[in-house]
Amino acid sequence: MPSRRPQAIIDLNALSHNYQRVKQLAPNSKVLAVLKANAYGHGMLAVAQALKHADALGVARIDEALALRAGGITKPIVLLEGFFHADELQQVVASNLQLVIHHREQAEALLAAALDAPVRVWLKIDSGMHRLGIYPHEFNELYQRLSQSANVQGPLRLMSHFASSDELAKPATANQLALFNQITDGSAGERSLANSAAVLSWPQSHGDWVRPGIMLYGVSPMADSVGVEHGLKPVMTLSSSVIAVRDVQAGDAVGYGGSWIAAHPTRLAVVAMGYGDGYPRGAGNNADVLINGKRFPIVGRVSMDMITVDIGNEATAVGDNVILWGKDLPVEQLARCVDTIPYELLCNITSRVQFSYT
Ligand code: PLP
Repeated sequence: MPSRRPQAIIDLNALSHNYQRVKQLAPNSKVLAVLKANAYGHGMLAVAQALKHADALGVARIDEALALRAGGITKPIVLLEGFFHADELQQVVASNLQLVIHHREQAEALLAAALDAPVRVWLKIDSGMHRLGIYPHEFNELYQRLSQSANVQGPLRLMSHFASSDELAKPATANQLALFNQITDGSAGERSLANSAAVLSWPQSHGDWVRPGIMLYGVSPMADSVGVEHGLKPVMTLSSSVIAVRDVQAGDAVGYGGSWIAAHPTRLAVVAMGYGDGYPRGAGNNADVLINGKRFPIVGRVSMDMITVDIGNEATAVGDNVILWGKDLPVEQLARCVDTIPYELLCNITSRVQFSYT
């Protein structure tokens, strides 16, 4: 009997396809695949195992990196937020992790530490996002001192992060690139700037390493496009089942608060998917699903465990398949309906959803 639990089906062939798309767009760059936040909700270990050709993996925090090591991943792993406490440096060495150093206190702690072995360091410069990164005026001094430190392995790597590479009309990305090049001009070391939007749209920023995240999962980083338009294939299909079908009459109010009232007699499919599974509550009266491949609107509020869908006079039965997002219903579209970004929707899927990998 098929499971009625909501399902996230992860297509690892689509992941490989998207990785190849990155290589096609940035053929001369190495790839630091970004797997933070449980690989954007897709399952970090399975994604790490599948990305056999990636040159390195990027996570935000040390617990994510340690989970990858515990899962048997031996590839280089970069801690994109660096370390938080100096105590963590021994773990960084013991687990052979690479560090992003993004502010002076981190640099000083690393320089002062007594480590068993040197660590690979990516020095992050604030080129205009004004979130993480050393100040441009600190670069020469910190670059020199870190380069000479016995705690630092090999040439430093130099990086920065774009604030608006998904907004092509803004001058911000070109300005960040110019400042980064100016600051690092004449310094040795591999460079990295490009996130997915820059892999797709700013070839002059590709450098030695690109750092794609969302595009690996087949999703567009741009607000006005979907992944397929960039030659990507969506990796996650979020699906569930119809758990009840009921007829309502004109004037019947549906769900909490009775926020939708039937204008005429119609049929509703009740679907096992709610905000307790990570489905956005804002989709109520606002978004569509696919039932047996046909598109129908969600009516009434999204509850913790279910949604109600107006199927008109469609012959739908308990157990029928429902797609919440996937190949024929892009997550980017739902994100627009609920006024968020697909990154958030993907990350929000909860552990109630059953994952399978194909
Ligand atoms: N590089 C860094 C430092 C990041 O923090 C992220 C994600 O936010 C990425 C790369 C990947 O970004 P995207 O998912 O937009 O490709």
